[in-house]
Amino acid sequence: MNKNPVIALAGNPNCGKSTIFNALTGGNQHVGNWPGKTVEKKEGTMTVNGRPIQIIDLPGTYSLSAYSIEEKIARDFITRNQPDLVISVVDASNLERNLYLTLQVLEMNVPVLLVLNMMDVAVQKQLRFDDERLARALQAKVVRTVARDGKGIEEVKQAILAALDANTPELFSIDYGKSIEGHISRLESALLSNNMVIHGVSARWLALKLLEDDQDVSALLAAHGGWQQVWPLVQEGRNSLENSDGECADILIADQRYTWIHRLVGATLKQPHDQEMTLSDRIDRVVTNRWLGIPLFLLLMWVVFKITTDVATPFLDWVDFIISGPITNWVTAMLAWLGLSGSWFESLLVDGVIAGVGGVLVFVPVLMALYFALAILEDSGYMARAAFVMDRLMNIFGLHGKSFLPMIVGFGCTVPAFYATRTLENEKDRILTGLLVPFMSCGARLPVYVLFAAIFFPRHAGTVIFILYMMGIFIAILLGILLKNTLFKSKESSPFIMELPPYRKPTLRSIWFQMWERTRAFVNKAWTIILAASVAIWLLLAIPVQGNGTFADTKVSDSAFAGVSRVIVPLLQPTGFGSWEAGGALISGFIAKEVVVSTMAQVYDVEDAEEEAVSPTFWQDLGEIGTSFAGAVWDTVKAIPGIVGIHFEGGEEEENNLALYAAVQDNFETSSNGHGALASFGFMVFVLLYTPCMVAIAAERQELGSKWMWVSIIGQSALAWLVSVLIFQGGLLLGIG
Ligand code: GDP
Ligand code: MG
Repeated sequence: MNKNPVIALAGNPNCGKSTIFNALTGGNQHVGNWPGKTVEKKEGTMTVNGRPIQIIDLPGTYSLSAYSIEEKIARDFITRNQPDLVISVVDASNLERNLYLTLQVLEMNVPVLLVLNMMDVAVQKQLRFDDERLARALQAKVVRTVARDGKGIEEVKQAILAALDANTPELFSIDYGKSIEGHISRLESALLSNNMVIHGVSARWLALKLLEDDQDVSALLAAHGGWQQVWPLVQEGRNSLENSDGECADILIADQRYTWIHRLVGATLKQPHDQEMTLSDRIDRVVTNRWLGIPLFLLLMWVVFKITTDVATPFLDWVDFIISGPITNWVTAMLAWLGLSGSWFESLLVDGVIAGVGGVLVFVPVLMALYFALAILEDSGYMARAAFVMDRLMNIFGLHGKSFLPMIVGFGCTVPAFYATRTLENEKDRILTGLLVPFMSCGARLPVYVLFAAIFFPRHAGTVIFILYMMGIFIAILLGILLKNTLFKSKESSPFIMELPPYRKPTLRSIWFQMWERTRAFVNKAWTIILAASVAIWLLLAIPVQGNGTFADTKVSDSAFAGVSRVIVPLLQPTGFGSWEAGGALISGFIAKEVVVSTMAQVYDVEDAEEEAVSPTFWQDLGEIGTSFAGAVWDTVKAIPGIVGIHFEGGEEEENNLALYAAVQDNFETSSNGHGALASFGFMVFVLLYTPCMVAIAAERQELGSKWMWVSIIGQSALAWLVSVLIFQGGLLLGIG
């Protein structure tokens, strides 16, 4: 056996693969992405009897047909990397469905260890297995586990060692029946005689794949000289099978596999005769009920929303407090001690670095809260029901049932919403959902709406804000339909698995693990972008380009920031808010949308208001504002005055606000030639639509990759510009405002 063996875990989604992976590797693992893909790759090492063994957790799939990215990754890994062993994890309470993947792995002629996981559920269902017979039929050792409780893990380790030391097993194959076998062997010998072999897979497997019309395999072999001889045989085989049986060859082959599995399960699994209705079935009666399903789902989503906003808020304030209070004071004191008080270095450290990195850390409680809620929904098995319940409705908009959750979360904050797209298994659905998420107006945009609505539409503020939220949803729906019919057109819509996994009690351990892993991944990656952007804006504000300020001590209107903002003024002219103040506010809104308001206070020189407009106010508000919006989704208009009301109650800000109101109003009236209200509405729409904030961008890059990140930044900004121009120019034409 070779020195450092590599083994892979393969299995259906939710069969307990990752639980086993975690149990085998302990903390000794690394989470990254598959090269060039946005699919999570988990690698780890376990040591058994002093031998290090590398383990890869392959993406969860139902098959290896290479339809989806996940299937391709799993299959390519097995063919290219030739793992020394594949652990096929199956949900023992669902053996028949799970074995389809096992069979496909076996057909790739890698040594397999079959792990019957979820034995607790199987026992509850009174299922009895004939392990020995199963092992003989599959030419694989069989181990039983209850991975969640750590049962059987030791046996798995020993079985891994035994399998690694065993001699290579005989080539596994099943009998596909006379006609299919005839074509297989004809193709097989044609492949062999033309020397068309691919390292690591048998000619029989290639022949089978060709008959199944597998695009990847034929593309690989087409490059070969012998293809001219083989291709006609493939076509002939497919045609003759189709003619004699009236079905496509791939369907006939899949059918044979199912039949084989069905027979195997019949011979190795004893089920109790009268399958009584399980608790799971009974819960499903209610949860997937035609009338109760959707209200129940909405209720649960509301709870998730509340958890990510309300519950996280105290912790968030706490983190914010620690950073802006003790840490800042500590650094300031330290610098004073070094004699650097009031220097540009202090400003860089406090206003640039600490504020920037603090901006990331402040998201940690929100993310942990979201992951906590998500982990419970997923682990309990409810998520599958939610998708089932919402699927039909979301399909109208070209989306998957599971897209609903990220959208809802997006009303609170776009950052966790991007991460929530992970629950979508199909990459296309995930990217499409990710692209639409930023249109759900997040909590940070609300302060901007509130300010402008109060200035320009004092009597209809609630209505204006409501229109903005609805506009975001409406544009997302339009874009969803558009994209689904163009870029994201797929011949195979991600198959919706109707079979619902049984309900399970989530464990603290698994939930904690998911919360921790995912949050850590965010912090690890996001801080660099955010630090860079914060320092860049700080620099722009620090450099004087006119007037008599000095570095790090200059008026905003004299700084490079104002200079840069002035550059984009001509571009903003047709929107009616072509002033450097408005432009600058939008630029800084890239850091965080709520900063738009504080920047306005800063650039209009209403200095005192700035103090109150910074993060703490926003964060305290987020929970209340966010949840009242969730309420608004159900209670629609009724809740809208509430949202606005919450904001207008803050009495002590009033004075500064009045100065700010006047300054903003004056500025917008000037830049729009007296059509301030119209221009301000365009401005709010711009804030609704333009680039997500940098933390969201960091999350998006992590989840969807850089390409889609740029599509969002550029596409959304272009869209924002276009729509606000349309609003202003259209409004002028129609004589509104
Ligand atoms: P994966 O999608 O295959 O990686 O599955 P996970 O490892 O994430 O497990 C899915 C869910 O099943 C989690 O909630 C686990 O806690 C749970 N689970 C894992 N193994 C068992 C088991 O043996 N019995 C039961 N009842 N639940 C399990
Ligand atoms: Mg997993």
